[in-house]
Amino acid sequence: MPAPAFQPLTASDKDLIAAARDVLRRNYHRERHSVGAAVVCESGRIYTGINVEACGYGPCAEPIAIGAAFSNGERQITAIVAVCKSGSRYPVLSPCGNCRQLIVDYAPDAMVIFSNRGKVLKTKARNLLPGNYSSHF
Ligand SMILES: [Zn+2]
Repeated sequence: MPAPAFQPLTASDKDLIAAARDVLRRNYHRERHSVGAAVVCESGRIYTGINVEACGYGPCAEPIAIGAAFSNGERQITAIVAVCKSGSRYPVLSPCGNCRQLIVDYAPDAMVIFSNRGKVLKTKARNLLPGNYSSHF
C-alpha cells in the first residue's frame, strides 16, 4: 500500500483550525467539553462542535460538527479538524478510530487535518483508515 499523500496547510485550513479553536475556547469545560471540531462543506460554510463527555462515554467533537453540518442540509464535507486544550494552547488532534470510520463513511475524500509527531498535516480521510470496514450502505 502506498504511503499516504500528505499536503501542506492552506489559509482556509488555518481558518478551519481557528474555528475549531474558537468553539472550544467559548465552551471549554474540563470534564465535559475538552475537544472542539470544525468541518467545512462544499458550500463553503463552516460548522463546529464540541465533544459531549458523559460517565465513561460520549461522542467526540467530530460527529457533533458533522451532525451540525448535515442537520443544516449539507451533504459534502470537504475538510475537518479537531483541537484540544493544553494550557493556553489549542493543538490539533488526530481523529480517534471511531471518528476515522465515521469520516470515511460520510466523506472519504474530505481532507483531514491532523497531528503526527508534532507536525500538523492533512490527507484524505481514506488514507487514515486503509482497508476500512464498509457495509456499502
Ligand atoms: Zn473520535
